[in-house]
Amino acid sequence: MSLLSGIGKIRLNGKKELTKSKQVLSLPEPEIVYIPLIIGASTDFDVHVSEGDYVHKGTKLATRKDIYVPLYSPVSGTVKGIEKRMHTSGKIQNHLLIENDFKDDEITPFSYDNPDSLSAEELVEAIKEIGILGLGGSGFPTYVKYQNAKNIEAVLINAVECEPYLTSDYKVMEKHSEELLDGTHFLMKAGHAGKGIIAVKVTNKDLILKLKEKAAKFNDIEIVGVPDAYPMGWERVLIREIFKKEYERFPSEIGIIVNNATTAIYLSEALRQKKAITHRIVTVSGEGIKNPENVYVPIGTSVDYIIDKIGGYNDKCEEIVVLAGGPMMGKSIANDQFVISSYSNSVTILPKKDTDEMPCLRCGLCVEYCPAKIQPVQIMNGEKMKDLDSVTNAGADKCITCGLCSFICPSKIEVTDWVGKAKTRIANARKAGGK
Ligand code: SF4
Ligand code: SF4
Repeated sequence: MSLLSGIGKIRLNGKKELTKSKQVLSLPEPEIVYIPLIIGASTDFDVHVSEGDYVHKGTKLATRKDIYVPLYSPVSGTVKGIEKRMHTSGKIQNHLLIENDFKDDEITPFSYDNPDSLSAEELVEAIKEIGILGLGGSGFPTYVKYQNAKNIEAVLINAVECEPYLTSDYKVMEKHSEELLDGTHFLMKAGHAGKGIIAVKVTNKDLILKLKEKAAKFNDIEIVGVPDAYPMGWERVLIREIFKKEYERFPSEIGIIVNNATTAIYLSEALRQKKAITHRIVTVSGEGIKNPENVYVPIGTSVDYIIDKIGGYNDKCEEIVVLAGGPMMGKSIANDQFVISSYSNSVTILPKKDTDEMPCLRCGLCVEYCPAKIQPVQIMNGEKMKDLDSVTNAGADKCITCGLCSFICPSKIEVTDWVGKAKTRIANARKAGGK
């Protein structure tokens, strides 16, 4: 492990070579896709189809009720009902089952005509109806950032992909640089922003070169190289790096809206082709499988199906851990039956390591390296005492679950897990009308 100078950033062994130079594999489509009826913490959906209904690729299946997000069918076929199944949240959730008829019978689910003629407000409505979420893993509805956007100076496209193993953004950008610029322009228009900035790691020299060539014909989009450090892709760190500014809750407070690069690309495609986002590229990597790959699959494809199609688990590993996401921010899932959502950028499978946890040395490294500038060790100690005031005062709810405090800890303490528990304690207290 080598550390970068600078608080809140660290140089990690990227392990990106496992998949970066390989072609994306288009897998044969599965017979069944499972559409999760959950986005974020919300499981409150209006389901518009019933068991036995025929659906086209692009049929609106369901709508999230609290914050409007439509879900479209990624395949044509027959609705087989609702089934409980493991989800990337780590919990069993409802999924809508569609049996694929492999006819690829597609409809246009959107009503707008020429996307270039849409006003900013119409564009926000179109983004809302497309149902696009933060495709870098956040799952946050994109249109919400643009509704009533005021005094936006710049749209910042996060093309950093700083977490080890992950190369799905890179592979999408490598192939779709035109769409990246096009999608950036649509987002700039939606936000009334005069400037677009696409932030790419300096180590992706080929990509920077390609994007700079494509951007040369515009005078409103800049390609900016940023250090290869973790968590450079977290928007607070990225904004610090590029704009030298801080904000309280949202980047829009300082005139910036941040979107992920794949979000911009898939948005451009959806707007131009009037197609729902039905498929995506996902990195499936790690030493726990035989052949790490980037795969192109329909939304709702089960992870066990993907792993089987790319050659299976690594027989040399006695035990493995399956993570929805990357090794730093991903969530360990009890089995491989969960599915790819539109915002699943990766699945990481690692050999399980026995860690001999030792007592805290009070070295302060977790505090020094925390990019959220909070006190992980204090939060851990407060959480051990179930002390709500202590974890709240130490800023547990500002944690971005980057995993650095566990990674850096010389005593091999899972500090991030303790901070996660503290965050849940605060959230539960708020729900109950407490703090
Ligand atoms: S996981 Fe949370 S507490 Fe730990 S370093 Fe990252 S932001 Fe800080
Ligand atoms: S890094 Fe680990 S040992 Fe050091 S203060 Fe934090 S929890 Fe304690």
